[in-house]
Amino acid sequence: MITREVLSIPGPDGSVIDIPYFEIVGAKPGLHLTVIAGIHGAEYSSIAAAREFVAEINDEEVMGRITVMPIVNILAFWARVPFVIPVDNLNLNRSFPGNEHGSFTEIYAFHVFEKIIRGSDYLLDMHAGDIPEALEPFSIFEESDVEDKSLQMAKAYGIKHIVRQRAAGLVVAGSTSAAASVIGIPAIIAESGENGILDQAAVQLHLVGLRNLARTLGVLTGEPWSAREHISYDGWNWLRAERAGWWQPSHKPGAVVRAGELLGTMSDPWGERFAEIKAPQDGTVLFQTSSPAVSKDGILVGLALH
Ligand SMILES: [Zn+2]
Repeated sequence: MITREVLSIPGPDGSVIDIPYFEIVGAKPGLHLTVIAGIHGAEYSSIAAAREFVAEINDEEVMGRITVMPIVNILAFWARVPFVIPVDNLNLNRSFPGNEHGSFTEIYAFHVFEKIIRGSDYLLDMHAGDIPEALEPFSIFEESDVEDKSLQMAKAYGIKHIVRQRAAGLVVAGSTSAAASVIGIPAIIAESGENGILDQAAVQLHLVGLRNLARTLGVLTGEPWSAREHISYDGWNWLRAERAGWWQPSHKPGAVVRAGELLGTMSDPWGERFAEIKAPQDGTVLFQTSSPAVSKDGILVGLALH
């Protein structure tokens, strides 16, 4: 049975924010996979894949339960705002497991975590590059007590680049996958698509990954494919701008770079170059800001470490 549900969250001014989601309950018992997308509201390729997955699924193929929330950050979606919830301008994916008495984004995260994520057997959080962000597809899982299962999820999703995030020196605190794995739910974040573009190739990469993941976990009928080759990375170095400027990257996402290699330059509004950004370590550029306008402390490059 496929039912349409709504998660209602108290809004900032006494209003109520309704987030649509689907519950797909199979005829046979089984595990519970939760699939979310649109934590960042303009990552359309990942949102589209969640929509298409539901549109094409037949509940007779499902064993157990699949919860799908395609547009978690519904406020950013309608406002076309990248990265944050346009109320307090905080990043939802730095705010989990949330705080019922915190800032608006933390309250939002609290409700999503308690009502959608907690109680799941597995969590898939689908992303893409947001409006100013170019990206090579990759998956992330966290160092945790359930990391072996999370790694198996990433392998089943089939995206070539897989980054393990260590608990110590974590660059991304408060993500869905970090908060879920802390309470024992194996989880991955999968990224495909970029620049707020609805790109069918990126959608398909998510969609075939999601279907294969569901088959591998046994919540969807059909034979999963056998494991594909992947490249493992040991965490990140996220390079940031020391001051605001015009950012001009030298590489495209996917580039393999050596320590000391130029990643891009920063210049002021007069065109005077004031910084050369070099790779501090060997790595692969998995995402980077594609917009030239970067504010102080803004992210330039996500370098996955070899
Ligand atoms: Zn995202």
